[in-house]
This record gives sequence, structure tokens and C-alpha cells, in this order.
Amino acid sequence: MATALITGASQGIGECIAKRLAKDGFDIAVNHYPSDGDKAKAEAVAEACRALGVKAEIFAADVSKFDQCADMVKEVKDTFGSLDALVNNAGITKDTLLTLMSEEQYDQVIAVNQKSVFNMMKPAIKVMMKQKHGAIVNMASVAGLYGNPGQINYAASKAAIIGMTMTAAKEVGARNIRVNAVAPGLIKTPMTDVLTDEQKSKIFERIALKRFGEVEEIASVVAFLLSDSASYITGQTIEISGGLEM
Ligand code: NAD
Repeated sequence: MATALITGASQGIGECIAKRLAKDGFDIAVNHYPSDGDKAKAEAVAEACRALGVKAEIFAADVSKFDQCADMVKEVKDTFGSLDALVNNAGITKDTLLTLMSEEQYDQVIAVNQKSVFNMMKPAIKVMMKQKHGAIVNMASVAGLYGNPGQINYAASKAAIIGMTMTAAKEVGARNIRVNAVAPGLIKTPMTDVLTDEQKSKIFERIALKRFGEVEEIASVVAFLLSDSASYITGQTIEISGGLEM
């Protein structure tokens, strides 16, 4: 049985990806931020995956911390016997205009969204190289492709993920490991619940499909990129935004 590790899987897009990959037959490693609230939510996600007939366990780690990521990858490998798919999904926003943003707001978003991808890919790729196969999907954003006012930190982190995805894909392609990214537009999750109606309607006007995205619409593309159906796709960033920018 193949194993998939999803970071930040206690809610939102990560939760949906975990359940979708369980449906596809992966054993699931549900990463959650080390807090009681996230642990309880992650346990419910793992339980939902088990109900689909696969193994599922929860793993606490703050993905901005290098050592915690290395320990988690080792624990997942020890628990399930392999690590075949990794989804670097965990992310945060600390939005405000560039001139108002504190250094702390900038650094926190870079650490959680961007450095985490290095923290996770390094140990995971080592495992995948030994296995001689593996697939990774990194969570970028349309903000990393086109920019977004109030998100200089977030846009920087997501643009970097696109560059990291291409670089890792080039480094490990010969080892039968594929690395891709997805760039969602506005998807209905707790992260976007906090946007004001004015912010939402400004984005809405630009969406060709005239609706916001559902978490399932991200999970299905991630599942495709991790599957053999995408066996000749690597280094790519797939935009999933209902036609936000063209
Ligand atoms: P969310 O806030 O609902 O979920 C984020 C998850 O990441 C949570 O489970 C949270 O606990 C976890 N997390 C945060 N910091 C962490 C840390 N240091 N260590 C481990 N876990 C941590 O957000 P979401 O909308 O589901 O977003 C998921 C991903 O998709 C993020 O990377 C986000 O940037 C990206 N994204 C979302 C949208 C959208 O419209 N919702 C659009 C583009 C990209």
C-alpha cells in the first residue's frame, strides 16, 4: 500500500486532500500543527480516512521547524514502511500593505509557507530516492503567479515555491521522483472566511467561472498529479482558479 503525507491536514484544503487520497487507496499520514485544537481536528480527519478502509495516523509537527519535519518524515516511514507521496499544503496568511507590514509578519509567513517546503522535501526526497520512486505536490497560489495587494509576504512565499518545485523536479527527475505544484485561486476554506465581502466581491468579478472554488476541486488535481495518470508531468504549476487571470 502506498503512503501519502499531507501537511496542515487538520482542516480546509489539506483535510480534503487527505480524504480524497484515502479514497484513492493511499494510507494517510495526517500532519497537524502541535496544538490541542489541531490535534483533535486531525484525529477526526484520520478517523474519516480509516472509515474509507485505509490506515491513517496523525503526526504533530510545526513545518516551519527543520528538525520537527525530519523527525516526522522518519516517523511516517517507520509507521507505514514507505513514503510515496508528499503534499506540502500547510500555510498561513498575515496580510497587510507592504508599508504597514512588520518584519515579524513577513518572516512568519516565509517560514511557514516557504521554508517548510525545503524542510519537508529534503528528508522526504531522501526516502524517495532510496525507494526509487515518489511524487510531491507543493501548494502555491495565484498570488505567487500574479501578485496580490496586501500579500507581499504570501506572494513571495508562493512564488518561491514555484521556483523550488522546478528546481527539485530537475534535481530528482532522473531518480523517478516527480515534483509539481498547484496554484489555487479563491477557495472556500477557513483561510478565506476572514476576507471581507468587499475583498471577496473584487476577486469574484475577475473569475471567468463566476464562482469561488471548492476544496474538492483542488484535491482532485492533487490526486491526479500524484497518480500514474500524471507519470510524464513534472516541474509544473497547475493554476486552479476558475480563470482568475488569463
Ligand atoms: P487553512 O487555514 O484552512 O488550513 C491551513 C492548515 O495549515 C491548517 O490545518 C493549519 O493548522 C496548518 N498549519 C498552519 N501553520 C502550520 C505549521 N506551522 N505547521 C503545520 N501546520 C500548519 O487554509 P487552506 O485554505 O486550507 O490553505 C491550505 C493551503 O492552500 C495553504 O498553503 C494556502 O496558502 C493554500 N491556498 C489556499 C487558497 C484558498 O483560497 N483557500 C488559495 C491559494 C492557496
